[in-house]
Amino acid sequence: MLLIDGKKTSEEIKSEIGASVAQIKEKGGKSPHLAAILVGNDGASQTYVGAKVKACEQVGFESTLVRLEETVTEEELLKVVEGINQNDEIDGLIVQLPLPKHISVEKVTNKIKPEKDVDGFTPANVGRMTLGWPAYVAATPYGIVELLKRYNIDTAGKHCVVIGRSHIVGSPMSILMARNEYPGNCTVTLTHSRTQNLSEITKTADILIVAIGKPEFVTADMVKEGATVIDVGIHRIADASKKSGFKLIGDVKFDEVAAKVAAITPVPGGVGPMTIASLLYNTLLAAEGKVYSK
Ligand code: NAD
Repeated sequence: MLLIDGKKTSEEIKSEIGASVAQIKEKGGKSPHLAAILVGNDGASQTYVGAKVKACEQVGFESTLVRLEETVTEEELLKVVEGINQNDEIDGLIVQLPLPKHISVEKVTNKIKPEKDVDGFTPANVGRMTLGWPAYVAATPYGIVELLKRYNIDTAGKHCVVIGRSHIVGSPMSILMARNEYPGNCTVTLTHSRTQNLSEITKTADILIVAIGKPEFVTADMVKEGATVIDVGIHRIADASKKSGFKLIGDVKFDEVAAKVAAITPVPGGVGPMTIASLLYNTLLAAEGKVYSK
């Protein structure tokens, strides 16, 4: 069984990005600059944004964290986004989700200038990705594509089953796996909460991408021998034996599935670290004007 090591691969990508930053600076250019907006005090969101800011430091990027109160109005938030849109010093902008209920995610997302949308969430970038045009591809799907590529997983003509149809993972993943390039050229089945006989479908998957958000949902009897399994899920489970008091598990029952398949991503250390590496990569592309020419 091949363990697809996202931690190691993300470190390789980060050192490649670091080398590109050094080259830009040698030529007298400025460091890529990522801005993140964090609204409120949600613990998980603070952890995610903190990890993104730390990763920026690691590769030599500038970063700006804008923290806003939970009570900020939609209008005020839209003004902050517009200010960053207009700031030529900043290359990429992310707004950490979820946002408080009184703020429309659609309005805020749509306010982000597509040229700075390094999360790849705006309609412009989703449309461009779907058409196969240069685009910022959402970080998690992009990280998965990069893992498949760097581990030389054969995809052409294979049956790829995706569990989950979220806008940030499952749906873009299904589009990327069906496109006419590598990794891609799969026959794709996108499954969701209304799918019937799910395990009959997953058992036919050569590549199974799981983004259902349910701890250890996928068991050995649901997978085909020799398949490649990509586990996107992240769940904190209480564990008294750990110093932190919890451990992380995925959407896949790792031990029993790993014993049956050809390749699998672990949790932690699989898709998670790749998501951050992809965000950094998109920010580098933004700074270099490689998706939308400057
Ligand atoms: P989501 O909750 O938005 O979507 C879950 C999807 O699962 C839905 O589309 C739903 O239709 C589908 N679903 C629910 N029950 C089902 C069933 N019985 N059969 C088939 N499909 C079913 O999820 P998301 O935002 O895509 O996240 C999924 C998981 O991935 C979560 O655990 C999340 O924390 C994790 N995640 C990890 C990363 C990362 O960087 N590793 C990034 C994003 C999300």
